[in-house]
This record gives sequence, C-alpha cells and structure tokens, in this order.
Amino acid sequence: MSILLETATNWAGNLVFSAARWHRPRSVDELRRLVANSERIRAVGSGHSFSAVADTRGDLVRLDGLPQAIELDTAASAVTVSAGLRYADVIAALERSGWALSNLASLPHISVAGSVATGTHGSGDTQRCLSASVRALQLIGPEGDLIELSRDTDLDVFPGSVVALGALGVVTRLTLDIEPSYEMAQRVRVAVPLDEVAADFDAVSGAACSVSVFTDWGHDEADVWLKRRTDRPGNGWSGGRPAERPMNPVPGMPPEFSTQQLDVPGPWCERLPHFRPELTPGAGEELQSEYYLPRAAAPAAIGALRDLGQRLAPALHIAEVRTVRADDLWLSPAHGRDSVTFHFTWVKDPDRVRSLIAAVEEALMPLGARPHWGKLTALAPRDLAALYEQAGAFGRLTRAYDPAGKFRNDFTDELLGAV
Ligand SMILES: Cc1cc2nc3c(=O)[nH]c(=O)nc-3n(C[C@H](O)[C@H](O)[C@H](O)COP(=O)(O)OP(=O)(O)OC[C@H]3O[C@@H](n4cnc5c(N)ncnc54)[C@H](O)[C@@H]3O)c2cc1C
Repeated sequence: MSILLETATNWAGNLVFSAARWHRPRSVDELRRLVANSERIRAVGSGHSFSAVADTRGDLVRLDGLPQAIELDTAASAVTVSAGLRYADVIAALERSGWALSNLASLPHISVAGSVATGTHGSGDTQRCLSASVRALQLIGPEGDLIELSRDTDLDVFPGSVVALGALGVVTRLTLDIEPSYEMAQRVRVAVPLDEVAADFDAVSGAACSVSVFTDWGHDEADVWLKRRTDRPGNGWSGGRPAERPMNPVPGMPPEFSTQQLDVPGPWCERLPHFRPELTPGAGEELQSEYYLPRAAAPAAIGALRDLGQRLAPALHIAEVRTVRADDLWLSPAHGRDSVTFHFTWVKDPDRVRSLIAAVEEALMPLGARPHWGKLTALAPRDLAALYEQAGAFGRLTRAYDPAGKFRNDFTDELLGAV
C-alpha cells in the first residue's frame, strides 16, 4: 500500500526524505512483491537518525504496518521480534514474561531494526552495542526472496550482515539474545571533577554496569549517572556528591521524563534507558553527533574537548561519555576495540553546529574516532570507509546479495564506491 505521509522528515526535522514514494505494506508477501518490483528501495525504522543513512530517491518503506510479533524461546534464551517494533514494545513484553535484554540505548522509542543497522549502543565496560545481541535475521533480498541468516551457521557473512545500514535488504525479523529479568538501581553523582574523570577513567566507567558522564565541556565538572545491577557489586567509586533529587540529563529539562533515580531498585527496562518510554523527550529540537574511540584514548580526548570547551558549551544542550565493549561486526564502530564514546546533543542551529562538529573531528579523528552512522559528521561517506578494516569485505557482500544495487542510496553508494 502506497501512502502519503504528513511529514516526510526524520525525527529531528533536519532531513527531508527525498523518496519518490512511501509504502506501508500490511503483509510480508505485499512487502516482498514491493521489493521485487522496485528499482531502488530501502527501509526506514523510526526515523531517529540525523544522517542521510536511511534516505533514498526511490521507494521508502515503513514496516510498522506489518503484523507485529514477539516470540519467546526461553529454552534458547532468545526472542524473535518483527523488525518494525520499537524497543519500548519489546522490553515491556519481555519484562512481563520475566526476561530481559542486556543493554539499551538512551531512549526506547527507536526501532529495533534501525538501531541494529547503525551499531546503536548504550553504556558499560562489559556491554556491547545493541547489534551484537542479534543472533539471527530474516531479510528480503532484491528478487523478493526471503533470506535467513544465523550467527551459528553463517559464520562467514553474519558479522557483515547486522550493522548493514539497510544495504543488504529489508530486514523483516530479528532474533535477539535474552537473559532472565534483573533488577537495577540508578543514582547520579554531581560535581565530579573532569580532572578525576580523565585521571581515573577506569574507576569511573567501571563503577556500575552502565555509566554515563554528562558535561557541557565548558565547566570543570560533570554529572555521572550510575546504573547498577542489584545482583552485581560496583567497584566502590564515589566521586563528587550524590544528587539529592531526580535529574534530567539535560540541565533545565524536567526530571519527569527521566527514568527513576535516587537508588530506588526496579526492573532493568525502567532503569537502563535515560528516558521513560511513555514520554517523548523533547520534540526534535536538537542535532546529534557521536564518536567511538579506542578506550585508551579517553584521557587525551577529554583533554582535547576541554580545550575546545568554551566554544562548544554555548551550542550544546549536553554532551555524554559512555563505554562500549568490542565486537566482531564488520561495520560496528566498536569493531575490534573496547571503546569510549563521545556524544554531543547540539542546539538545532545547523550552520553553527557544522563548524563545531568539524572542530571536534579535528581533535578526535587523530585519536582514532569512528563517527556514529546515524548521527552528523563533517566527513564524507567515502572517508568513513577508510576507518573500517572490513569495509572492502562489506562491499563484496553487498555486491553478492544485491548485484544491481537495489538497496543502495547516495550514502552507501559513496561509502562503497571507496572500497
Ligand atoms: C533522541 C535520540 C536519542 C538517541 N540515543 C542514542 C543512543 O543512546 N545510542 C546510540 O547509539 N544512538 C542513539 N541515537 C541514534 C539512533 O539510535 C540511531 O540513529 C538509530 O539508527 C535509530 O533507529 P531508527 O529505527 O530510527 O533508524 P532509522 O533512522 O529509521 O534508520 C537507520 C538505518 O537503518 C535502516 N533500517 C531501518 N529499518 C530497517 C529494516 N527493517 N531493514 C533494513 N534496514 C533498516 C535504514 O535504512 C537506515 O540505514 C539516538 C537518536 C535520537 C534521535
């Protein structure tokens, strides 16, 4: 079914999709026919990417009109979910059944397929990006054919097929690792000196299962959000002083949007994200950029950003430092290296932000930064390919699955043209 959308922009409104036609099929068979008959097509998830990674001038398809299913396989510790679902839908169903995911991003409103396709991450020294939890995928290939890929049996291609930027086909369902439900408690420590964060980075980032350092780089202090599993001891780090009331990661924004704090225990899915699923944080009045660096670069990167702090702070809502464990997914920005990530939530002023992103990249690229696929960067896609050892293998994989380039867009054409 072809549809006209009220708005054809991404969530932030910084990108107007250039699709000639939008579609919202009601069945997988309808979607298969659509793919088979299209010359250029790609899927869009919840549209939360700031980059043009999801855009196309051909057919753009939303999957939220398909029948949605969440199938638990407790014996295999796995859940199979329809690709159009948002994490918010999946985590609520899992928790009701006594099961959990190991990690989540800052907000649960994003779609599973779109998040996985870009290497979206949460935080934690032992926590890999969300894509690394994918155990199997079903996707529709260029002829409308159904392709099943599994981590256990497709060893040669699976690591290239998860963070795939939509370039291999339209993913219809994903199987994710799960574990028994667990309890977490969240607390915030305020006025933590950035000197301490840089000097004792391992102590700070290892203080809980998931740690986020929030700063605007223009001051000498940060707020550190600690999300601990109640069944796992922390390392005892306690810099700064405890927050006495609930907070929002963005100074001045209402705390009601944030998940519960003050060390009150609760289900994993109500503590791991920063924002509550039933409320939408902000209305897209922001732009974002983010970089994954080798974690050993944390002190140098913190120093470099503090040097830029007086320029950055006036254009920032907030910035966040997190950690991500290494994985083996070819295009994962954490591929092959334990990482520290530097995230920037900018004011929605594209011209001003463009020059600041360039300044940040001048400081961070020499330290080994890889930009987030779904966020803004001053680098062209062809420059991004050079940051991935397996970019050439990914190019060969896309040509094998999609010789005519049906699933490519301008972003991936330029990216893969370089390998
Ligand atoms: C407020 C906000 C908070 C965020 N927080 C985080 C965070 O904590 N951590 C983080 O890492 N990122 C974060 N992001 C970035 C976000 O997670 C990524 O941009 C992610 O890709 C968004 O998912 P989506 O469903 O909106 O994907 P979209 O932007 O819709 O699409 C992204 C890519 O996925 C592809 N895709 C989508 N569905 C399919 C499908 N069914 N089959 C094949 N390909 C598909 C698209 O073609 C495109 O290439 C945040 C973004 C916002 C706006």
